[in-house]
Amino acid sequence: MKWIDPPDGRPWALIGLCAASLFANAALAVFVLSGDEPQVEAPVVSEAPAVVELPEDALEPSLPPEAGVANVGDVAPLEDAVKLVRAKVDHSFARTFQRAVPEHADVLSAVYSRLFVWDVDVRKDLQKGDGIAVAYSWDGELADVAVAEFESNRHRRTLHAYKFQATGDDWPSWWDEQGVEVPRRLVNGPLREYEQITSLLKDRPTHRGMDFKTPIGTALYSPRAGTVTRTNWNTVPNGGCIEVRYSDGVVAKFLHLSDVKVSAGDSIGAGTLIGLTGNTGRSTAPHLHYELARGGKVLDPIDYHGVIRRTLSDADRPRFERERARLEKLIATEQTAMR
Ligand SMILES: [Zn+2]
Repeated sequence: MKWIDPPDGRPWALIGLCAASLFANAALAVFVLSGDEPQVEAPVVSEAPAVVELPEDALEPSLPPEAGVANVGDVAPLEDAVKLVRAKVDHSFARTFQRAVPEHADVLSAVYSRLFVWDVDVRKDLQKGDGIAVAYSWDGELADVAVAEFESNRHRRTLHAYKFQATGDDWPSWWDEQGVEVPRRLVNGPLREYEQITSLLKDRPTHRGMDFKTPIGTALYSPRAGTVTRTNWNTVPNGGCIEVRYSDGVVAKFLHLSDVKVSAGDSIGAGTLIGLTGNTGRSTAPHLHYELARGGKVLDPIDYHGVIRRTLSDADRPRFERERARLEKLIATEQTAMR
């Protein structure tokens, strides 16, 4: 697959779910027996968090839509390949997309949720009757979101994400109407350039880190000073890998690398180039898996690093405003037509 998020891809959602569980359990058993810690990178499954107490909601995309359910969203073709989905939330993003656009639901709900997860606690803030809208194109296996909207009754506001490539960036990102980037970035993270964060720690209980979608060969820098404790262990799941003990005692793991440029015992400074990202080990698409732990307890990189939000430069604003106007029409068309 050439573009994958989640890495194992939508066609495998059902199999992936079973496999993820089997892999995780089997690998855990193996590693527990061998006395090593689990280094499981279970196959990724598309999932959107549930509204309340239903973490098994991740299963929804694989289930048939319930018959006769009201509140089904509308899907309509727009210019060329762009599709628009507009629907009212019922229970969760996953279920909402399942009802509105079953053929693309799992991928679309994952991409959509990840856009707004920075602003909305999707487990607590979703309310029945909230509005979702997304204009996207489908290339056969993934949803390329041009513009997304979330109307939150709880927050009494409507959030937007407009796709736009800022000058100097290697990839497009999503920006709100103020020109503020919607997805956040780690402060002094391990990659200076990457395409997208495709998995957050909180996405799945079996996943111990954060995934950055990025081409093979992307430069990997140690975010902190520290000591390399080991490299290339458990390579079947991990692929090329590096473990660094930061000077504050936090242990960082970088998995699926194509090149490892350091050795156990090396002292490194913050910003040292330590390797190149890849697609090795149990990985089905080029990405970096970044995992942190203190005293054996997994840390969320978001909490450890903190996050920043970029803002478009003044020079980019006119171009962004033109693009935003175009995208506004995309997402407004069907709404008007449906009335
Ligand atoms: Zn990962």
